[in-house]
Amino acid sequence: MPTVVSEPLLLTALSQTFGYSSFRPHQKEIVEAILAGQDVLAIMPTGGGKSLCYQLPARMAAGTAVVISPLISLMKDQVDSAKENNMAAAYLNSSLSGAQAHKVYRSLEDGSLDLLYISPERFAMDSFIDSLKAARVSFFAVDEAHCLSEWGHDFRPDYLALGQIRKHFPRAPIAAFTATATNKVSDNIAERLGLRDPFQVRASFNRPNLFYEVRAKREIDAQILEFLKSHPEEPGIVYRTTRDAVEKTAAALAKKGIKALPYHAGLPADERGANQEAFSRDEAQVVVATIAFGMGIDKSNVRFVIHADLPKNLEGYYQETGRAGRDGDPSICVLFYGGGDIPKIRHFLDQMNDPEERNMAIHRLNQMAAYASRNSCRRRQLLAYFEEEWPEPNCGACDICTGKATTADASREAQMVLSALVRTGERFGAAHVVDVLVGADTQKIRDLGHDQLKTYGVGKHKDKPFWRSLIGEMLGRGLLMLDPGPYPIIKLTEACLPILQGKETFEVLELGKRDKATKSRGSQASGSSGEDGEAVDYDRALFDRLRALRKTLAQRQSIPPYMVFSDKTLHEMCRQQPKTLSALREIAGVGDAKRDKYGIEFVQEIRGYEGKNVG
Ligand code: ADP
Ligand code: ZN
Repeated sequence: MPTVVSEPLLLTALSQTFGYSSFRPHQKEIVEAILAGQDVLAIMPTGGGKSLCYQLPARMAAGTAVVISPLISLMKDQVDSAKENNMAAAYLNSSLSGAQAHKVYRSLEDGSLDLLYISPERFAMDSFIDSLKAARVSFFAVDEAHCLSEWGHDFRPDYLALGQIRKHFPRAPIAAFTATATNKVSDNIAERLGLRDPFQVRASFNRPNLFYEVRAKREIDAQILEFLKSHPEEPGIVYRTTRDAVEKTAAALAKKGIKALPYHAGLPADERGANQEAFSRDEAQVVVATIAFGMGIDKSNVRFVIHADLPKNLEGYYQETGRAGRDGDPSICVLFYGGGDIPKIRHFLDQMNDPEERNMAIHRLNQMAAYASRNSCRRRQLLAYFEEEWPEPNCGACDICTGKATTADASREAQMVLSALVRTGERFGAAHVVDVLVGADTQKIRDLGHDQLKTYGVGKHKDKPFWRSLIGEMLGRGLLMLDPGPYPIIKLTEACLPILQGKETFEVLELGKRDKATKSRGSQASGSSGEDGEAVDYDRALFDRLRALRKTLAQRQSIPPYMVFSDKTLHEMCRQQPKTLSALREIAGVGDAKRDKYGIEFVQEIRGYEGKNVG
């Protein structure tokens, strides 16, 4: 049943169903390929708009599109969100009762479904395959396709059953989607699904609406609070490395009146689920979480992702920051970086048994530290990690390119560190070396007679966090190394010689110097461009009202607010202030179904707002 569709027809369907007037990169080509009966293998970043790539052809093609998705918790969300756009969607998984499943099977049989979401293990059931054969399947879409490969970071043995698709449905096209795939993983996906000459897409991993920034880590909880002050009521995620730290930060924020909830693998499953749900429904502003929080977060209006501790590698960092700004609106990714994190992580990595794995992990950590401390566009560095070149000299949306971070010459201080290390015999960890530098009066120093050293107290003019972070940076840049033995003893490397001899300078970044100047997006009634290079030109008061309306409508139907309209769509309403249904329909994100369902209430709210302002 391959069909060739004209561009105007596609655009009409896009607009009616989703309310969008244009495609994101690659979407159109993927939709066309599927409709023409071709297999697809698409690698697109989070927020790239993968769901639309199969939902639109599901809508347009005759028959039912079968979507394989790994998480039961996400299936319901996806079905709810498709239904919001008036698509006939249902899911089949172990959470359904017999009667509910029966109903879904019936609508599959009578051909009334556009979309059927299922979990992969269904393909191990002959009875299910028979039902599909009896139905009219338009195509198969495999979401999170990297789960098929052991080389990926989230291999799921259940996914291997998907090899059955091609065997039983030789003619139906298969479209595979993932946000993470090296070439090895994508070859693996293609082979295991038996893709035939697939239309391949590898989208850019650049996320243009994300602002990347690194700030010097000092009093972390206070710094997070400071950030939240300039981002009132904006939903966001704070990542911390340990469960303890998660609990501590969540409590510190809650104490100051922020609606913050913890999330980590040590919490009971129902509490975890409830906290995620509260975040998803805009009932909690912040989730403080370990990296256990991630998969299954479809919330499109995450406005910031804060890393309060250094992540172990750039891949993880990129994935976690990727949860910000899926709706395409400006969002901020802040990494708080203090050199003190490196010895902590190293301590953990040094205990890895396999030397090859350990060296690999250390290498990745060094790349992460270099990202944080190098005077080079953050975006360019992140993309380089994925072997993608960033062509522009200035990305306009990171702290380096916007001049938020400046460099300072720390050669003299670096020399002090080196000399303190030499004079104490390269036998101590960072804490003691810092004590010597600032001239601390500790038992250890007195016992060892280190108060007699020439370097004792030479660094009094700076505080301990400064020295800790300087040492961390020197480690990160390979001037120092941690002893591979059981204790995190710091040693010099050859690379430090030119600095010790004064032949080279040591520049450090002065991070987040302009912290306080950072303005909240939307805090001005109208204007040009914010401190972070973000648009701030929408009416904040109206936004708050529309957001409240959205929440009420969402609560009424037990769905998350972002499913009613995205933040981006609300912002656009604030700018255009549509006062008729047809004007509202012009806003990106308002399709026919949502105009009919919510249009009147939003238009009334906007009219009422105007009235008040005028009167
Ligand atoms: P992914 O699954 O790739 O992470 P999603 O499918 O969740 O991304 O899409 C992310 C967001 O982008 C959603 O809010 C979606 O509605 C929006 N979106 C998708 N395609 C378009 C488009 N062509 N124009 C505007 N917004 C889009
Ligand atoms: Zn940049």
